[in-house]
Amino acid sequence: MKPGRCFHSSFHKYPGGGSKSRGQSPLVRNRRTGQDCRAQQGGWPVPKLTVVDHPLVQHKLTLMREKDTSTASFRRLLREISLLLAYEVTREMPMSTRMIETPICTMEAPQIEGKKLALISILRAGNGLLDGILDLIPASRVGFVGLYRDPVTLQPVQYYFKVPSELEDRITIVVDPMLATGNSSAAAVSLLKEAGARDIRFLCLLAAPEGIARMQEAHPDVPIVTAAVDSHLDGHGYIVPGLGDAGDRMFGTK
Ligand code: URA
Repeated sequence: MKPGRCFHSSFHKYPGGGSKSRGQSPLVRNRRTGQDCRAQQGGWPVPKLTVVDHPLVQHKLTLMREKDTSTASFRRLLREISLLLAYEVTREMPMSTRMIETPICTMEAPQIEGKKLALISILRAGNGLLDGILDLIPASRVGFVGLYRDPVTLQPVQYYFKVPSELEDRITIVVDPMLATGNSSAAAVSLLKEAGARDIRFLCLLAAPEGIARMQEAHPDVPIVTAAVDSHLDGHGYIVPGLGDAGDRMFGTK
């Protein structure tokens, strides 16, 4: 049988689909603040703050928060959650279509537009999120930003910076599990902008209101995706209730 042409409309049902024909995204859902939470990215409105309140994410996060969760379990859970967060942070990626042949007929099928991803891990805890996202999007280019806090000025100082070329042509996803003061995240994003990045999203596991405010003040164009917004920072800059030091818990260094 010669394949016929199906006018299959699934592409138009995908909320993330349709690079040219889409109007306002229906996906803005900052349930906490109720603010207008759209930022312009690559010409499309995307939520400035997305809290991924999916039951699987919240359940796994609870397990990660518990102080007696082992290093191995913590790492496994972070990897699992990172897949689910990656799903959300890539939701607004530009789409196009191409003709394909199924065994039954030809169809115009959706695909992610050619824009390549750059995943940037803020060392060292960012690597825990990075691994899971790479499972989902293995063709991504990867970069690393290392920052430490100067003990005198308390300002972030760069000690490592290696990122993919042509950042200006990529969607850049910055990953760091904990958005605490926001100082190092904001500094990392500034460095990435200096390196050419234009279309940047920030992905974390937990965010403090202070960190969100700092990021949104410094980089209002950068949408944030997180699994939870916690109460506040303590005197040592830890997120409360939080989960402790993400790097130590992930690598068993304490
Ligand atoms: N970094 C962490 O690992 N945990 C916090 O609570 C804050 C920053």
